[in-house]
Order: sequence, then structure tokens, then C-alpha cells
Amino acid sequence: MASTPPPPRSTRESRAQAGPPAQQPPSPQPASAQPPAPGSQAALRLANRRRVVDAVRELGAATQASIARETALAPSTVSSIVHELTACDLLAMEPEHGGRRGQRVHFSESAGYLVGVDVGHRHASVAVADLNLDVRAQRRIDLPAGHRAEDVLTGAREILDELRTSLDVPAQRILGAGLTLPAPVDAECRGLGSGAILPAWAGLDLRALATGTLGCPTVVENDANAGAVAEHALGAGRGTAHMAYLKLSHGVGAGLILGGGLYRGATGSAGEIGHVTLDERAGLCRCGNRGCLETFVSSQTVLDVVASSGRRVESVGDVVREALAGDPGCTRVITDTGRLIGGAVAQLCNAFNPELVVVGGELARAEDLLLDPVRDAVQRYAVRGCVSGLRIVTAQLGARAHLMGALIRARAETSLPV
Ligand SMILES: [Zn+2]
Repeated sequence: MASTPPPPRSTRESRAQAGPPAQQPPSPQPASAQPPAPGSQAALRLANRRRVVDAVRELGAATQASIARETALAPSTVSSIVHELTACDLLAMEPEHGGRRGQRVHFSESAGYLVGVDVGHRHASVAVADLNLDVRAQRRIDLPAGHRAEDVLTGAREILDELRTSLDVPAQRILGAGLTLPAPVDAECRGLGSGAILPAWAGLDLRALATGTLGCPTVVENDANAGAVAEHALGAGRGTAHMAYLKLSHGVGAGLILGGGLYRGATGSAGEIGHVTLDERAGLCRCGNRGCLETFVSSQTVLDVVASSGRRVESVGDVVREALAGDPGCTRVITDTGRLIGGAVAQLCNAFNPELVVVGGELARAEDLLLDPVRDAVQRYAVRGCVSGLRIVTAQLGARAHLMGALIRARAETSLPV
């Protein structure tokens, strides 16, 4: 219907239940500038400028007409504000077919930069992107098992400085950062919600530590949540209102987009699907319980099961490659894994009734070899009404999902100089 508002397209969801904004970046405004008096014309003008900037942040590159719809401001007001913000190099016009009326507005490429830091169990990636989320430089490093927060963040700062130098970007142009971790993050996006998963990172104010070490306001986020935000904004979940992102890796977790927004739950730990109990007589899980889904389907378990048959495989990628080439043992391991995951996804669907489940992580490279047994199990175990029309697909962003999610969260939380 013409009156239906457009579906959420980007980072609106990442702020819906986000923690408090990160601390303010240095403002280009003169230190002596006083905030306008409440209710004054100047205050209204500033509020409208912020609405326009937030619309560009949420919509991505957008025409002035769509910004006017998003902000409910008059087209002439939008045009005037875009002119002002273009003049001060926060926004820029992008030529598009159809002439001036079709021109899209986006952030100026030199308006500032964001940092994404994605930390896994044995690796970290650092990226520098502009405010349009175009990654300008990126580096990945290996990490030792049981790595410490201080060491990883110090290493990330060194990489950031190298990337900045290669890009000729001064430190003050870095406006904000997003740090993603493979562990539950508390509701304030400040530290870990549980010390069981990354014990060497537990009990710390990670937001303060990362902000101090990286030298810019930093928001901390669970990696599955970041993957959900990224797939929702830029990948397979575009245009959906209710979706789940499933991370299959060393750990197993889910990020939930409900009603267009990221759902964290009361303490920030929503989506810990990897710790659904399958068999409490089975092995001990790193969370302290027994027989969690993760103990049956994690990357290490997949490797251990394949190795128990006497095969030499170095990575889950090897297992996927062998399976796709027709190896019966590797195929069996992946289909069994898919069936177990599908049982847990069925419970997720019964509880949250998503329209889309996006599967990411190393195992997702097996595509339908993994997803068909997931789909079969979901249909078998879920209530029919909860999964009618449900789509289960692989992630579009692949290994970039968490890093892009970190950048999106950074952009959503960063105060921009309007
Ligand atoms: Zn567990």
C-alpha cells in the first residue's frame, strides 16, 4: 500500500535497544560555541540538522525526497539543510541517472572515519571505513588461545595506527569504533555479560578500556548481534522486520532482529542458542552446563568427529570442501550437524516466529548441504504456524558480517558533528 512506511533498511535496528551513546567525539565546533537556547529557532534548526543526518545514517545514500519522507520535514527544509551540511563537508551529493532530483545524498568521504574490531577466539580483524561504511583498509591477525583484552586491544591500536598511516588519516578523524566479541555482552554494551566464555576479558569495563586504548569512543557488541545487524542492513536480511542470524563457528550463537530492531533481552544475553541443552548426560560445555548444542556442532566438534575416523583435516573449510566433493564421511558430519542445529532453530522459531533465518560462519559455506537438514528439522519440530513462509538462507556478507556489524554499530553510536 502506498501509505505503508518503507521497511527498515539499515542501522535503525542497531540503535533500537542499544546501550547509552558512547562518549562524544571531539567536535569541530569552536569550544566557545554555546548550545542554542531551548525552543529557539537555532535549537529547532540544530534538531532538524540532526534529523537529516540521522536519516542518512539510517537510510544510507538517499534522495532528498526519501530523507524528507523519513524525517517528515518539508522538502525545502531538507534541501536547505543538505546544502549547509554539504558546504561544511559532512554530506556530499552523489550523481545519479535522472538529473538533480534523483541525486542521492551520502556522507562526504572525508567527513570522518570509523573503526571496526572483530575479535574471535583465534583471530582479530581491524578495519577503517568512511561514514558510508566503505572499508578503506583492513588487516587480520592470528591470536593465541586464551588471549587477554589488554593485549588484543593494544595490538588492534597498533594495526589501526598502521592503517591510518597508509590511508593518511590523522587520529582526530577517527570518530568512533565498534568492538565485537564472541561472548555475551551486557545490556549497556560495556563489558561481558558472562565470564564463562572469554574469561580473560571478564570483569573489565571493556568500553572504557577500548575507548582509551583505541583513542576514540567505542561500543562493545556481541559478534552474533553484529552479524544480525549487518545482514539486516546490508545482506540477506534487507527489508525484513523479524529475522535471526545464526553464527556457526568456534561458538554458536544467534542475533535477533525483532520488529526491525536488535533484541538484546534484559541483560544483553538474548540469542544464546548454542547453549540449548540437547542431552544433559553428554559432555561438559564451556558455559558450565552439559550437553549444550555447541558441544555437538561447534567447529572443534566437527573437526574432532572427522578426525576420529582417521582423516587429517586442518579446518572446517577442509571438511566443507571434502563434503561438497562427495566425501561420504564429511557429508554425514555436516548433515548430522544441520539436523541438530535445525532442532534448536525450531525452538527459536516457536519462541520468536521470524520470517528469515540467516546462517553464517564457517559451516555455512556448505550451503544447502547444511541448510537442507536444518530446514527439514525445523519443519519437523516447529509449530507449523511459526514457520509457514519461513526462509532459511546463508549469509551474504560471509566472513565480513561481524566486522561490518561492528562498523554499523560504531556509526549508529557515534555523535556526528552537525
Ligand atoms: Zn553451554
